[in-house]
Amino acid sequence: MTNSEYNQPDIATLTSWRRTLHRCPELGFALGETAGFIEKQLRSMGIETHGGIGQSGVVGVLRKGSSDKAIGLRADMDALKIHERNAFEYRSKTDGHMHACGHDGHCAMLLGAADVLRKFDFDGTVYFIFQPNEEHGLGAEAMIADGLFDRFPMDAVYAMHNIPGRPAGQIALTPGPIMAGEDNFRVTIIGRGGHASQPHQLIDPVIISAEIILAMQTIASRSIDPAEQAVVSITEIETDGTVNVVPSRVTLKGDCRSFKPEVSHIIERRLHELASGICQAHGAELQFSYARVFHATVNHSEETEHALAAARTINAEKLIEYPCQPMTASDDFGQMLLLKKGAYVFIGNGTDSEGGCALHNPHYDFNDDILVTGMQFWTHLVQQQLSI
Ligand SMILES: [Zn+2]
Ligand SMILES: [Zn+2]
Repeated sequence: MTNSEYNQPDIATLTSWRRTLHRCPELGFALGETAGFIEKQLRSMGIETHGGIGQSGVVGVLRKGSSDKAIGLRADMDALKIHERNAFEYRSKTDGHMHACGHDGHCAMLLGAADVLRKFDFDGTVYFIFQPNEEHGLGAEAMIADGLFDRFPMDAVYAMHNIPGRPAGQIALTPGPIMAGEDNFRVTIIGRGGHASQPHQLIDPVIISAEIILAMQTIASRSIDPAEQAVVSITEIETDGTVNVVPSRVTLKGDCRSFKPEVSHIIERRLHELASGICQAHGAELQFSYARVFHATVNHSEETEHALAAARTINAEKLIEYPCQPMTASDDFGQMLLLKKGAYVFIGNGTDSEGGCALHNPHYDFNDDILVTGMQFWTHLVQQQLSI
C-alpha cells in the first residue's frame, strides 16, 4: 500500500463506529453491547480476539513478521451516569447514561488503527486493548489481575485521551507525571447532639467540622512544597441533625489530587493530624479513612520520545505541545504504567464550538474530525516501534 492510500482512511466508517458506540453508553464492567460491538468489528477484520478479560475487557492480537517485539495500545470503553442534553440524532438511547468522556471516540480510533494495520507490514505484535471501567478506576486493575500482561506479553503500552479546550487534533505529552493520582477521604466527627437551644450541654460537630474544613486549606498551601502540585477538596458534608437539633455526627468527604506518592502521603498524614487534633481539642471522637483510588499516570521518558516521534510524523510542530502541563484529572492507565513502560498522550478535542465543551458535561461530544489523526497516531507509532 502506498503512503497516499494510507493517508485516506475511511472517515465515514470511523464516524459511524463512533456514533454507534455513542448511542449505547454502558457503565463500569457492564459493557455487553459495547464489548460485543468491538469484538465483532475486530473479528470481521480477521484479527484474533479475546473477550471477557477483567470481566468485559477485549484484546485484539495482530502479529506480523517474526520479531518478539510487542506493544499494547489501550482505549477505554465505559460511559458515565449523566443524562445527555445533546439533541443530535445519535444521542444516547439510554436515559441517564452518556458517553461524556469521549471513550466512544477512543474505541473508534483504536478500531480504525486495527483496520489499517492489518493491511500493513510490520515486524512484531500489536495488542489492541479495550478496557472496561476506567471511570471508577477499576478496569485496568481488573485486566491486569486477569493476566493482561502475562497472556499478552508486551514491551510497552500506550494510551490516548481527548482533551476539550486544546486545538482539534493537537497531540500533547510530557515525560514524567501527566495525570494526577486521586485519593478519597472520609472524616466523621462524633460529638454529642441535642436541643438546638442548649448548646452548652452538647459537643457540636458542626462547629468542629467548620474548623477542620478551614484547617484543611493549609495542607496544599503550607504543608506541600510549592514546587509540587496538590489539590485538597471537601466535596460532601452530611449531618444527622435537623433544623432544631444539633447533630451527633458530621461526615466530611473529599477528594485529593497529586502527582507523587510522597505528596499523597503528606496530604493523608496532615488531614489526619488536623482532624484528630481539632476533635481532641473539643472533646469529640474522630473516625478517619483515606483511600488511594487512582495512581498518578507517570510517563516513561523513552516511550514518551517514541510517542513524540509518532506525533511529529502526522502533525506540524504547531499542533504538538511538548512538554505539556500535566492535568489534575486522573486515569487508571497509571496502574498499567506502574508495571509496564509506556506513555499516555492527550489529543485536542477542539476549542470553543468545535469541541471545547468540558468532559463529563451533559453537552459534551467527541469531535469526529480528530478520529483520523488519532488513528494515524496509533498506526505511525506501531510502524516506528515494530519497523521491519
Ligand atoms: Zn471521564
Ligand atoms: Zn475518560
